Amino acid sequence: MTPNIDKNQQLFDRARALIPGGVNSPVRAFRAVGGTPRFVQRAQGAYFWDANGQKFIDYIGSWGPMILGHGHPRVLEAVQQAVLEGFSYGAPTEREIELAEEIARHVPSVEMVRLVSSGTEAAMSAIRLARGATGRSRIIKFEGCYHGHADALLVKAGSGLATFGHPTSAGVPPEVVQHTMVLEYNNIQQLEEAFATHGKELACVIIEAIAGNMNFVRASVPFMKRCRELCTQHGALLVFDEVMTGFRVALGGAQSVYARQIPGFAPDMTVMGKVIGGGMPLAAFGGPRALMERLAPLGPVYQAGTLSGNPVATACGLATLKEIARPEFFPALAKKTQSLVEGLKSAASEAGLPFAADCEGGMFGFFLLPQLPQNYPAVMKSDAPKFGKLFHGLLDRGVYIAPALYEAGFVSWAHTDADIAQTLQAAREVFKAL
Ligand code: PMP
Repeated sequence: MTPNIDKNQQLFDRARALIPGGVNSPVRAFRAVGGTPRFVQRAQGAYFWDANGQKFIDYIGSWGPMILGHGHPRVLEAVQQAVLEGFSYGAPTEREIELAEEIARHVPSVEMVRLVSSGTEAAMSAIRLARGATGRSRIIKFEGCYHGHADALLVKAGSGLATFGHPTSAGVPPEVVQHTMVLEYNNIQQLEEAFATHGKELACVIIEAIAGNMNFVRASVPFMKRCRELCTQHGALLVFDEVMTGFRVALGGAQSVYARQIPGFAPDMTVMGKVIGGGMPLAAFGGPRALMERLAPLGPVYQAGTLSGNPVATACGLATLKEIARPEFFPALAKKTQSLVEGLKSAASEAGLPFAADCEGGMFGFFLLPQLPQNYPAVMKSDAPKFGKLFHGLLDRGVYIAPALYEAGFVSWAHTDADIAQTLQAAREVFKAL
Protein backbone atom coordinates (compact mmCIF):
# COMPACT_ATOMS: atom_id res chain seq x y z
CA MET A 1 0.00 0.00 0.00
CA THR A 2 2.78 2.43 0.88
CA PRO A 3 3.92 4.22 -2.29
CA ASN A 4 7.59 4.52 -3.18
CA ILE A 5 7.71 8.00 -1.75
CA ASP A 6 6.21 8.02 1.73
CA LYS A 7 4.68 11.46 1.99
CA ASN A 8 3.86 10.94 5.67
CA GLN A 9 7.56 10.43 6.35
CA GLN A 10 8.47 13.49 4.28
CA LEU A 11 5.99 15.62 6.21
CA PHE A 12 7.14 14.19 9.52
CA ASP A 13 10.75 15.10 8.69
CA ARG A 14 9.70 18.63 7.74
CA ALA A 15 7.53 18.95 10.83
CA ARG A 16 10.26 17.79 13.17
CA ALA A 17 12.55 20.54 11.92
CA LEU A 18 10.11 23.20 13.11
CA ILE A 19 7.65 21.74 15.58
CA PRO A 20 8.91 19.93 18.69
CA GLY A 21 8.52 16.21 17.99
CA GLY A 22 6.77 17.13 14.75
CA VAL A 23 3.40 17.42 16.49
CA ASN A 24 1.32 19.96 18.39
CA SER A 25 0.10 17.49 21.02
CA PRO A 26 2.36 14.66 22.19
CA VAL A 27 0.25 11.51 21.68
CA ARG A 28 0.02 12.23 17.94
CA ALA A 29 3.72 11.44 17.57
CA PHE A 30 3.32 7.61 17.80
CA ARG A 31 6.01 7.53 20.51
CA ALA A 32 4.28 4.66 22.34
CA VAL A 33 3.86 2.47 19.26
CA GLY A 34 6.74 3.56 17.01
CA GLY A 35 6.55 4.32 13.31
CA THR A 36 5.57 7.37 11.32
CA PRO A 37 2.48 9.38 12.25
CA ARG A 38 -0.09 9.64 9.49
CA PHE A 39 -0.54 13.22 8.31
CA VAL A 40 -4.21 13.77 7.56
CA GLN A 41 -5.13 15.32 4.26
CA ARG A 42 -8.89 15.29 4.60
CA ALA A 43 -11.70 13.49 6.38
CA GLN A 44 -15.27 12.61 5.54
CA GLY A 45 -17.80 10.61 7.54
CA ALA A 46 -16.04 7.79 9.40
CA TYR A 47 -12.85 8.04 7.34
CA PHE A 48 -9.77 10.08 6.83
CA TRP A 49 -7.11 9.99 4.15
CA ASP A 50 -3.43 10.44 4.88
CA ALA A 51 -0.75 12.18 2.84
CA ASN A 52 -0.20 9.02 0.77
CA GLY A 53 -3.89 8.94 -0.08
CA GLN A 54 -4.48 5.86 2.11
CA LYS A 55 -7.95 5.65 3.63
CA PHE A 56 -8.52 4.80 7.30
CA ILE A 57 -11.59 4.00 9.35
CA ASP A 58 -11.23 6.58 12.11
CA TYR A 59 -11.85 5.46 15.71
CA ILE A 60 -10.28 8.57 17.22
CA GLY A 61 -12.56 11.21 15.78
CA SER A 62 -10.28 14.03 16.94
CA TRP A 63 -10.12 12.28 20.37
CA GLY A 64 -13.85 12.44 20.86
CA PRO A 65 -15.46 15.53 19.33
CA MET A 66 -16.49 14.06 15.95
CA ILE A 67 -19.50 12.16 17.24
CA LEU A 68 -21.38 12.74 13.98
CA GLY A 69 -18.38 11.79 11.86
CA HIS A 70 -16.49 14.28 9.72
CA GLY A 71 -18.26 16.85 7.57
CA HIS A 72 -21.83 16.21 8.67
CA PRO A 73 -23.95 18.29 6.24
CA ARG A 74 -25.96 20.19 8.86
CA VAL A 75 -22.86 21.02 10.87
CA LEU A 76 -21.04 22.15 7.73
CA GLU A 77 -23.94 24.36 6.79
CA ALA A 78 -24.04 25.99 10.24
CA VAL A 79 -20.29 26.59 10.23
CA GLN A 80 -20.28 27.99 6.69
CA GLN A 81 -23.05 30.42 7.59
CA ALA A 82 -21.27 31.48 10.78
CA VAL A 83 -17.99 32.09 8.96
CA LEU A 84 -19.71 34.49 6.60
CA GLU A 85 -21.04 36.45 9.56
CA GLY A 86 -17.62 36.98 11.13
CA PHE A 87 -14.94 34.95 12.90
CA SER A 88 -14.82 36.59 16.29
CA TYR A 89 -16.22 39.74 17.87
CA GLY A 90 -15.16 39.87 21.50
CA ALA A 91 -18.75 40.83 22.29
CA PRO A 92 -21.66 38.58 23.26
CA THR A 93 -23.86 36.73 20.75
CA GLU A 94 -27.24 35.01 20.87
CA ARG A 95 -25.66 31.72 19.89
CA GLU A 96 -23.73 31.57 23.16
CA ILE A 97 -27.06 31.66 25.01
CA GLU A 98 -28.48 28.97 22.77
CA LEU A 99 -25.51 26.70 23.40
CA ALA A 100 -25.68 27.31 27.16
CA GLU A 101 -29.43 26.55 27.04
CA GLU A 102 -28.81 23.34 25.13
CA ILE A 103 -26.16 22.19 27.63
CA ALA A 104 -28.29 23.05 30.66
CA ARG A 105 -31.31 21.33 29.11
CA HIS A 106 -29.49 18.00 28.89
CA VAL A 107 -27.37 18.19 32.04
CA PRO A 108 -29.71 18.95 34.96
CA SER A 109 -26.89 19.64 37.45
CA VAL A 110 -25.81 22.56 35.27
CA GLU A 111 -27.84 25.73 35.81
CA MET A 112 -25.28 28.16 34.48
CA VAL A 113 -22.46 27.74 32.00
CA ARG A 114 -19.26 29.60 31.19
CA LEU A 115 -17.78 28.90 27.75
CA VAL A 116 -14.03 28.63 27.19
CA SER A 117 -11.79 27.31 24.41
CA SER A 118 -10.18 24.12 25.72
CA GLY A 119 -10.74 21.38 28.27
CA THR A 120 -7.56 22.46 30.03
CA GLU A 121 -8.96 25.94 30.52
CA ALA A 122 -12.31 24.59 31.67
CA ALA A 123 -10.82 22.26 34.30
CA MET A 124 -8.37 24.89 35.52
CA SER A 125 -11.16 27.46 35.87
CA ALA A 126 -13.46 24.98 37.64
CA ILE A 127 -10.74 24.29 40.21
CA ARG A 128 -10.23 28.03 40.73
CA LEU A 129 -13.94 28.48 41.23
CA ALA A 130 -14.09 25.57 43.68
CA ARG A 131 -11.24 27.09 45.65
CA GLY A 132 -12.69 30.59 45.48
CA ALA A 133 -16.13 29.43 46.57
CA THR A 134 -14.97 27.24 49.47
CA GLY A 135 -12.02 29.37 50.59
CA ARG A 136 -9.99 26.14 50.71
CA SER A 137 -6.84 25.19 48.78
CA ARG A 138 -6.55 21.43 48.74
CA ILE A 139 -7.91 19.26 45.98
CA ILE A 140 -8.10 15.53 45.30
CA LYS A 141 -7.51 14.00 41.91
CA PHE A 142 -7.11 10.35 40.98
CA GLU A 143 -4.17 8.57 39.45
CA GLY A 144 -4.76 7.91 35.74
CA CYS A 145 -7.30 10.72 35.30
CA TYR A 146 -6.26 13.61 33.06
CA HIS A 147 -7.77 17.04 33.43
CA GLY A 148 -5.68 19.00 30.97
CA HIS A 149 -2.27 20.51 31.55
CA ALA A 150 -2.84 23.29 34.07
CA ASP A 151 0.11 23.25 36.48
CA ALA A 152 -1.79 22.18 39.60
CA LEU A 153 -3.25 19.19 37.76
CA LEU A 154 0.00 17.85 36.32
CA VAL A 155 0.65 15.63 39.28
CA LYS A 156 1.48 12.02 39.72
CA ALA A 157 0.88 9.94 42.77
CA GLY A 158 3.45 10.18 45.51
CA SER A 159 4.84 6.99 47.01
CA GLY A 160 2.20 5.32 49.12
CA LEU A 161 -0.34 7.25 47.06
CA ALA A 162 -2.37 8.89 49.81
CA THR A 163 0.20 11.63 50.07
CA PHE A 164 0.56 14.85 48.20
CA GLY A 165 1.89 14.28 44.71
CA HIS A 166 4.95 15.25 42.71
CA PRO A 167 4.95 17.29 39.49
CA THR A 168 4.64 15.06 36.39
CA SER A 169 6.20 17.71 34.20
CA ALA A 170 9.38 19.72 34.37
CA GLY A 171 8.56 23.36 34.86
CA VAL A 172 5.93 22.78 37.53
CA PRO A 173 7.34 23.91 40.89
CA PRO A 174 6.56 21.51 43.77
CA GLU A 175 4.91 24.43 45.62
CA VAL A 176 2.31 24.63 42.86
CA VAL A 177 1.17 21.04 43.35
CA GLN A 178 1.55 20.96 47.11
CA HIS A 179 -2.22 21.25 47.50
CA THR A 180 -3.02 18.47 45.04
CA MET A 181 -3.57 15.06 46.57
CA VAL A 182 -3.45 12.09 44.22
CA LEU A 183 -5.38 8.99 45.22
CA GLU A 184 -5.87 5.59 43.65
CA TYR A 185 -8.97 5.32 41.49
CA ASN A 186 -11.73 3.13 42.91
CA ASN A 187 -10.03 2.87 46.31
CA ILE A 188 -12.72 3.70 48.90
CA GLN A 189 -10.50 3.16 51.91
CA GLN A 190 -7.90 5.64 50.69
CA LEU A 191 -10.58 8.19 49.92
CA GLU A 192 -12.00 7.84 53.43
CA GLU A 193 -8.56 8.25 54.95
CA ALA A 194 -7.88 11.36 52.88
CA PHE A 195 -11.15 12.94 54.01
CA ALA A 196 -10.56 11.91 57.62
CA THR A 197 -7.24 13.77 57.66
CA HIS A 198 -7.87 16.66 55.28
CA GLY A 199 -11.65 16.82 54.83
CA LYS A 200 -12.06 20.36 56.14
CA GLU A 201 -9.27 21.65 53.90
CA LEU A 202 -10.60 20.21 50.66
CA ALA A 203 -12.02 22.53 48.01
CA CYS A 204 -12.98 19.73 45.63
CA VAL A 205 -12.58 16.23 44.29
CA ILE A 206 -12.14 16.16 40.53
CA ILE A 207 -12.80 12.91 38.68
CA GLU A 208 -13.31 11.35 35.28
CA ALA A 209 -16.22 9.10 36.24
CA ILE A 210 -15.62 6.95 33.20
CA ALA A 211 -11.92 7.49 32.82
CA GLY A 212 -10.97 7.69 29.15
CA ASN A 213 -7.42 8.71 29.90
CA MET A 214 -6.68 5.25 31.22
CA ASN A 215 -8.42 3.73 28.21
CA PHE A 216 -11.81 2.96 29.71
CA VAL A 217 -12.16 2.46 33.45
CA ARG A 218 -15.41 3.05 35.28
CA ALA A 219 -15.59 4.40 38.79
CA SER A 220 -17.47 1.68 40.66
CA VAL A 221 -20.93 2.65 41.89
CA PRO A 222 -19.99 2.22 45.59
CA PHE A 223 -16.87 4.34 45.03
CA MET A 224 -18.84 7.10 43.34
CA LYS A 225 -21.52 6.98 46.02
CA ARG A 226 -18.86 7.36 48.71
CA CYS A 227 -17.21 10.24 46.81
CA ARG A 228 -20.55 12.05 46.78
CA GLU A 229 -21.25 11.37 50.47
CA LEU A 230 -17.81 12.45 51.66
CA CYS A 231 -17.82 15.65 49.59
CA THR A 232 -21.25 16.59 50.94
CA GLN A 233 -20.29 15.77 54.53
CA HIS A 234 -17.10 17.83 54.41
CA GLY A 235 -18.31 20.73 52.28
CA ALA A 236 -16.02 19.89 49.33
CA LEU A 237 -17.31 20.14 45.76
CA LEU A 238 -17.54 17.08 43.54
CA VAL A 239 -16.32 18.11 40.10
CA PHE A 240 -17.05 15.80 37.16
CA ASP A 241 -14.60 16.15 34.32
CA GLU A 242 -16.83 15.26 31.39
CA VAL A 243 -14.59 16.71 28.69
CA MET A 244 -14.53 13.26 27.12
CA THR A 245 -17.73 11.66 28.43
CA GLY A 246 -20.06 14.67 28.14
CA PHE A 247 -22.58 14.21 25.30
CA ARG A 248 -20.54 11.11 24.33
CA VAL A 249 -21.48 8.26 26.69
CA ALA A 250 -25.06 9.60 26.89
CA LEU A 251 -26.81 12.89 26.22
CA GLY A 252 -26.63 13.63 29.95
CA GLY A 253 -22.99 12.49 30.19
CA ALA A 254 -21.45 10.08 32.69
CA GLN A 255 -23.40 11.73 35.52
CA SER A 256 -26.63 10.51 33.96
CA VAL A 257 -25.20 6.97 33.91
CA TYR A 258 -24.49 7.21 37.68
CA ALA A 259 -27.80 8.94 38.40
CA ARG A 260 -29.51 5.81 37.02
CA GLN A 261 -27.74 3.73 39.67
CA ILE A 262 -27.48 6.14 42.61
CA PRO A 263 -30.82 7.85 43.38
CA GLY A 264 -30.55 11.65 43.36
CA PHE A 265 -26.92 11.59 42.25
CA ALA A 266 -25.39 14.75 40.77
CA PRO A 267 -21.97 16.40 40.84
CA ASP A 268 -21.55 20.02 42.02
CA MET A 269 -19.71 21.15 38.94
CA THR A 270 -19.18 19.77 35.44
CA VAL A 271 -16.32 20.35 33.05
CA MET A 272 -17.07 19.78 29.36
CA GLY A 273 -15.31 20.00 26.00
CA LYS A 274 -14.85 17.93 22.84
CA VAL A 275 -18.42 17.06 21.62
CA ILE A 276 -19.89 20.43 22.70
CA GLY A 277 -17.59 22.06 20.12
CA GLY A 278 -18.15 19.43 17.44
CA GLY A 279 -14.45 19.66 16.46
CA MET A 280 -13.95 23.38 17.03
CA PRO A 281 -12.03 24.80 20.01
CA LEU A 282 -14.80 25.05 22.57
CA ALA A 283 -15.20 23.84 26.16
CA ALA A 284 -17.24 24.84 29.18
CA PHE A 285 -17.79 24.46 32.87
CA GLY A 286 -21.06 24.75 34.69
CA GLY A 287 -22.96 24.17 37.90
CA PRO A 288 -25.56 25.67 40.20
CA ARG A 289 -26.38 29.36 39.90
CA ALA A 290 -25.13 30.31 43.39
CA LEU A 291 -21.74 28.81 42.61
CA MET A 292 -21.38 30.11 39.05
CA GLU A 293 -22.36 33.63 40.10
CA ARG A 294 -19.09 33.82 42.02
CA LEU A 295 -17.33 34.23 38.67
CA ALA A 296 -16.27 37.62 37.31
CA PRO A 297 -17.91 39.99 36.48
CA LEU A 298 -20.45 39.13 39.22
CA GLY A 299 -18.12 37.64 41.79
CA PRO A 300 -14.53 37.62 42.97
CA VAL A 301 -13.25 34.58 40.98
CA TYR A 302 -11.54 35.85 37.84
CA GLN A 303 -11.85 34.03 34.53
CA ALA A 304 -11.81 35.34 30.94
CA GLY A 305 -10.93 34.58 27.30
CA THR A 306 -10.44 36.55 24.05
CA LEU A 307 -11.98 33.77 21.94
CA SER A 308 -14.40 32.39 24.56
CA GLY A 309 -17.82 31.68 23.04
CA ASN A 310 -16.35 32.08 19.55
CA PRO A 311 -19.19 32.43 17.01
CA VAL A 312 -17.89 29.79 14.59
CA ALA A 313 -17.19 27.31 17.37
CA THR A 314 -20.61 27.83 18.97
CA ALA A 315 -22.29 27.34 15.58
CA CYS A 316 -20.44 24.04 15.17
CA GLY A 317 -21.20 22.89 18.71
CA LEU A 318 -24.83 23.88 18.59
CA ALA A 319 -25.46 22.12 15.28
CA THR A 320 -23.74 19.02 16.69
CA LEU A 321 -25.78 19.00 19.91
CA LYS A 322 -29.03 19.42 17.98
CA GLU A 323 -28.25 16.36 15.87
CA ILE A 324 -27.31 14.14 18.79
CA ALA A 325 -30.38 15.17 20.78
CA ARG A 326 -32.63 13.32 18.34
CA PRO A 327 -34.22 10.47 20.30
CA GLU A 328 -32.94 7.74 18.00
CA PHE A 329 -29.34 8.98 18.14
CA PHE A 330 -27.85 7.52 21.31
CA PRO A 331 -29.56 4.11 21.19
CA ALA A 332 -28.28 3.62 17.63
CA LEU A 333 -24.77 4.85 18.47
CA ALA A 334 -24.60 2.63 21.55
CA LYS A 335 -25.71 -0.37 19.49
CA LYS A 336 -22.97 0.21 16.93
CA THR A 337 -20.35 0.59 19.63
CA GLN A 338 -21.57 -2.57 21.36
CA SER A 339 -21.41 -4.56 18.15
CA LEU A 340 -17.81 -3.45 17.66
CA VAL A 341 -16.87 -4.34 21.23
CA GLU A 342 -18.66 -7.70 21.20
CA GLY A 343 -17.06 -8.53 17.84
CA LEU A 344 -13.61 -7.67 19.15
CA LYS A 345 -14.18 -9.85 22.20
CA SER A 346 -15.16 -12.87 20.15
CA ALA A 347 -12.28 -12.34 17.70
CA ALA A 348 -9.87 -12.26 20.65
CA SER A 349 -11.41 -15.33 22.21
CA GLU A 350 -11.11 -17.24 18.90
CA ALA A 351 -7.43 -16.29 18.85
CA GLY A 352 -6.97 -17.28 22.50
CA LEU A 353 -5.87 -13.75 23.37
CA PRO A 354 -6.37 -12.34 26.88
CA PHE A 355 -8.81 -9.52 26.19
CA ALA A 356 -11.33 -7.41 28.08
CA ALA A 357 -13.44 -4.57 26.70
CA ASP A 358 -16.17 -2.17 27.79
CA CYS A 359 -18.22 0.62 26.27
CA GLU A 360 -20.89 3.22 27.00
CA GLY A 361 -22.70 5.22 24.34
CA GLY A 362 -20.15 6.03 21.65
CA MET A 363 -17.01 5.45 23.73
CA PHE A 364 -15.15 2.17 24.14
CA GLY A 365 -11.96 0.69 25.47
CA PHE A 366 -10.17 -2.63 25.31
CA PHE A 367 -7.26 -4.18 27.14
CA LEU A 368 -4.90 -7.05 26.44
CA LEU A 369 -5.70 -8.30 29.93
CA PRO A 370 -7.88 -11.17 31.17
CA GLN A 371 -10.22 -8.79 32.98
CA LEU A 372 -11.19 -5.13 33.09
CA PRO A 373 -8.76 -3.13 35.23
CA GLN A 374 -10.07 -0.98 38.08
CA ASN A 375 -7.23 1.52 38.38
CA TYR A 376 -4.15 2.93 36.69
CA PRO A 377 -1.53 0.41 37.89
CA ALA A 378 -3.76 -2.41 36.59
CA VAL A 379 -4.20 -0.64 33.21
CA MET A 380 -0.45 -0.32 32.86
CA LYS A 381 -0.05 -4.09 33.23
CA SER A 382 -1.26 -4.31 29.62
CA ASP A 383 1.30 -5.77 27.27
CA ALA A 384 2.74 -2.65 25.58
CA PRO A 385 4.84 -4.37 22.86
CA LYS A 386 1.86 -6.54 21.94
CA PHE A 387 -0.35 -3.46 21.80
CA GLY A 388 2.17 -1.84 19.45
CA LYS A 389 1.92 -4.85 17.11
CA LEU A 390 -1.85 -4.77 17.30
CA PHE A 391 -1.94 -1.06 16.55
CA HIS A 392 0.30 -1.37 13.48
CA GLY A 393 -1.50 -4.49 12.28
CA LEU A 394 -4.78 -2.59 12.29
CA LEU A 395 -3.21 0.51 10.79
CA ASP A 396 -1.76 -1.52 7.90
CA ARG A 397 -5.30 -2.79 7.29
CA GLY A 398 -6.77 0.72 7.22
CA VAL A 399 -8.10 0.87 10.79
CA TYR A 400 -6.92 3.81 12.90
CA ILE A 401 -7.22 3.41 16.66
CA ALA A 402 -5.50 5.47 19.37
CA PRO A 403 -1.73 5.02 19.23
CA ALA A 404 -1.41 4.35 22.96
CA LEU A 405 -2.84 1.64 25.19
CA TYR A 406 -4.15 4.09 27.78
CA GLU A 407 -6.47 5.96 25.38
CA ALA A 408 -10.17 5.32 24.74
CA GLY A 409 -11.77 4.80 21.33
CA PHE A 410 -14.73 6.54 19.73
CA VAL A 411 -17.45 5.41 17.35
CA SER A 412 -19.42 8.00 15.38
CA TRP A 413 -22.84 8.18 13.81
CA ALA A 414 -21.11 7.88 10.42
CA HIS A 415 -19.62 4.43 11.09
CA THR A 416 -21.59 1.88 9.09
CA ASP A 417 -22.15 -1.82 9.75
CA ALA A 418 -19.78 -2.46 6.86
CA ASP A 419 -17.07 -0.35 8.55
CA ILE A 420 -17.49 -2.36 11.72
CA ALA A 421 -17.41 -5.65 9.81
CA GLN A 422 -14.23 -4.54 8.04
CA THR A 423 -12.69 -3.56 11.37
CA LEU A 424 -13.56 -6.94 12.87
CA GLN A 425 -12.10 -8.77 9.87
CA ALA A 426 -8.87 -6.80 10.32
CA ALA A 427 -8.90 -7.53 14.06
CA ARG A 428 -9.34 -11.29 13.47
CA GLU A 429 -6.28 -11.33 11.22
CA VAL A 430 -4.20 -9.23 13.59
CA PHE A 431 -5.25 -11.11 16.74
CA LYS A 432 -4.28 -14.43 15.15
CA ALA A 433 -0.83 -13.09 14.31
CA LEU A 434 -0.28 -11.95 17.91
N1 PMP B 1 -10.17 16.49 30.66
C1 PMP B 1 -10.30 15.32 30.03
C2 PMP B 1 -11.09 14.23 30.67
C3 PMP B 1 -9.71 15.13 28.78
O1 PMP B 1 -9.82 13.94 28.18
C4 PMP B 1 -8.99 16.19 28.20
C5 PMP B 1 -8.31 16.06 26.84
N2 PMP B 1 -8.17 14.82 26.32
C6 PMP B 1 -8.89 17.39 28.89
C7 PMP B 1 -9.50 17.50 30.11
C8 PMP B 1 -8.13 18.55 28.32
O2 PMP B 1 -8.80 19.07 27.23
P1 PMP B 1 -8.03 19.92 26.10
O3 PMP B 1 -7.11 18.96 25.41
O4 PMP B 1 -9.12 20.44 25.24
O5 PMP B 1 -7.29 20.99 26.81
